[in-house]
Amino acid sequence: MHNAALKACGMDMEYVRIHLRPPELEEGFRLLSLHGFAGVNLTIPHKTAIIPLIDSIDPSAEKLGAVNTVRFENGKSRGYNTDGPGLVRAVMVSFGARLGELRVMIIGAGGGAGRAAAIQCAIEGCSEITLVNRTQSKAEALVHSLRELTAGSSARSVRAITDSSESLSCALAEVDIVLQCSSLGMKEGDPSPLPKPAIEARHFVYDTIYSRRTQLIEDAEDTGARCANGLGMLLHQGALAFEIWLQRTAPVEVMSAALKAATGLK
Ligand code: NAP
Repeated sequence: MHNAALKACGMDMEYVRIHLRPPELEEGFRLLSLHGFAGVNLTIPHKTAIIPLIDSIDPSAEKLGAVNTVRFENGKSRGYNTDGPGLVRAVMVSFGARLGELRVMIIGAGGGAGRAAAIQCAIEGCSEITLVNRTQSKAEALVHSLRELTAGSSARSVRAITDSSESLSCALAEVDIVLQCSSLGMKEGDPSPLPKPAIEARHFVYDTIYSRRTQLIEDAEDTGARCANGLGMLLHQGALAFEIWLQRTAPVEVMSAALKAATGLK
């Protein structure tokens, strides 16, 4: 999607993939900064390891504790995180809603994507955040971090619940949007993490998985709920990174078409 965007903007630049092992990150990053790159994207496990290596960090990325985008300028590097803001844009585009105005349930709140989504929800000002994770202790640990982050704003309620059908059903009655951030659904035959009868037509269901159509999306669509897969989040984190590196508006339609063509997904 980046190369399609660069071409559409008439920029003589290229987005390339470079494999660095953890012990190679420091030297590799130094070389990239010296050799004319506008910036980099980083993925696991480098999103946290890069933080001590950059000159400055955007406040939201600092709160997230993870950097997926670095911009080089005048010999200095600055880290950002576009995953959370990409999710916010995807929710707006998919449902026409501001994430910060919704009561949210996050499934998979013990993983990297779930943690990032939860912290972004706190940054956006969601009034109620319900965390669910197969290993409940991880969701409970995240509750403590979120409470620290939202300290002083008494309106916010953050809680972790068990993933039993009963507790999920009770909680769903009081949420507006479900952000499915677990890996459940990536494999053929994986069940939905939610009891189908508890999904209501008024719910927004955002499944961050984009590699296949999940049982959750099937169930939610049957119920009449509005649904979207994770392709929009992938697209918008990329578009935001493009804007950070090149300081110009990203050609989102071109990027979306390239992404769909490359993945065969919609
Ligand atoms: P991760 O750090 O490995 O976390 C995996 C999460 O899934 C944990 O919460 C884990 O629970 C849960 N999980 C795994 N297997 C499960 C099962 N059988 N039943 C219930 N829960 C299960 O992975 P990640 O990087 O956060 O990625 C998670 C998902 O987010 C993936 O599906 C990925 O496609 C998606 N994602 C999408 C985008 C996007 O741009 N759209 C970006 C990043 C990630 P435990 O804590 O109990 O192990």
